[in-house]
Amino acid sequence: MGRVLIIGAGGVGTVVAHKVAQNADVFTDIMIASRTKSKCDDIVKAIGNPNIKTAQVDADNVDELVALFNDFKPEMVINVALPYQDLTIMEACLKAEVNYLDTANYEPKDEAHFEYSWQWAYHERFKEAGLTAILGCGFDPGVSGIYTAYAAKHYFDEIQYLDIVDCNAGNHHKAFATNFNPEINIREITQNGRYYENGQWVTTGPLEIHKDLTYPNIGPRDSYLLYHEELESLVKNFPTIKRARFWMTFGQEYLTHLRVIQNIGMARIDEIDYNGQKIVPLQFLKAVLPNPQDLGENYEGETSIGCRIRGLKDGKERTYYVYNNCSHEEAYKETGMQGVSYTTGVPAMIGAMMFFKGEWKRPGVNNVEEFNPDPFMEQLNKQGLPWHEVFDGNLEL
Ligand code: NDP
Repeated sequence: MGRVLIIGAGGVGTVVAHKVAQNADVFTDIMIASRTKSKCDDIVKAIGNPNIKTAQVDADNVDELVALFNDFKPEMVINVALPYQDLTIMEACLKAEVNYLDTANYEPKDEAHFEYSWQWAYHERFKEAGLTAILGCGFDPGVSGIYTAYAAKHYFDEIQYLDIVDCNAGNHHKAFATNFNPEINIREITQNGRYYENGQWVTTGPLEIHKDLTYPNIGPRDSYLLYHEELESLVKNFPTIKRARFWMTFGQEYLTHLRVIQNIGMARIDEIDYNGQKIVPLQFLKAVLPNPQDLGENYEGETSIGCRIRGLKDGKERTYYVYNNCSHEEAYKETGMQGVSYTTGVPAMIGAMMFFKGEWKRPGVNNVEEFNPDPFMEQLNKQGLPWHEVFDGNLEL
């Protein structure tokens, strides 16, 4: 009934595999494929289900992907490799007639640039082929868009102000580590900030704007305005939005390390010549930093991610805050991974579940907020990411 292929065996891939295996009524046949097959085999061992198949694949290579798809014949691919592979995997999906889901928008390797245009350009081809592509189905992007769609459907006539707030108040006891792929993470954070206001995009310096925001069960944390990809699709899909921003917390220790990494050139993404060998400094840095997959064991504390929304209902202004807090310890107990991988992998599984249950089937390329949020919200409560609501509270923003 539900044949699914997971591509990528990192922190997020591990969580997706655990959650897919837990929902055997929906996902009847499972394969995990990645660049390093032994990592896929390790995941299968940890889950303890020998029926899950594994394979080696280079997801930069369309022909290799097509051969794998034709062999396993999945109905849907869950892409949790890196954003660099989005277009090759989408291309292969069209060739082998497979539906598609991912958690991060395409980025070219040589330029840290985030926009949906490359993937939206596939819309007509997916539509004509009768295939569904679901973009950005992690937590943020992902649940952040579904929360917004849920608010628009049930509580607002007009959403006017949207602030997505992402706090990681966990402690992994390392001097410096990133919570997901370090290369992707550092590229994202060192970019200029950007937000949407009155029909325009406003650019700021990297991490230039920040303020204390209070997170439930955590307290106040310094939160920095970043550009985040879901802002692009949300202002398009909810045109009443006057201002949309994204905030993320960082500790001083993290920011000091980040500044040093940049100052000494280790965040560079261009190739340099080192003793006759070409290396990209940021890729080399990734090789020596702690692996995000190994952070889980001593990780304490929790994440808190939500949407703070202001708008109109029946002509009156109202505010709404919807959020999830996720414990790193609980995530580790269940999947062997920390909370950031967990909060990304669980929604990816639910998105695929929505497809297989027929709730989210719409030929073409779709962002998550374009689907009915209700069945997804129901599953969040059942699958480990329960949400909470505050009505007419102080949004601080
Ligand atoms: P990891 O680096 O831990 O894992 C990436 C996996 O992809 C690895 O197993 C890697 O293989 C594999 N891979 C990389 N290149 C290829 C390739 N060419 N062919 C086949 N496999 C490849 O990353 P994470 O698990 O932390 O993140 C996965 C994705 O989730 C990223 O796209 C990230 O941006 C996204 N993400 C989304 C979030 C959200 O909320 N929406 C939040 C966090 C992450 P190998 O093991 O050999 O290196």
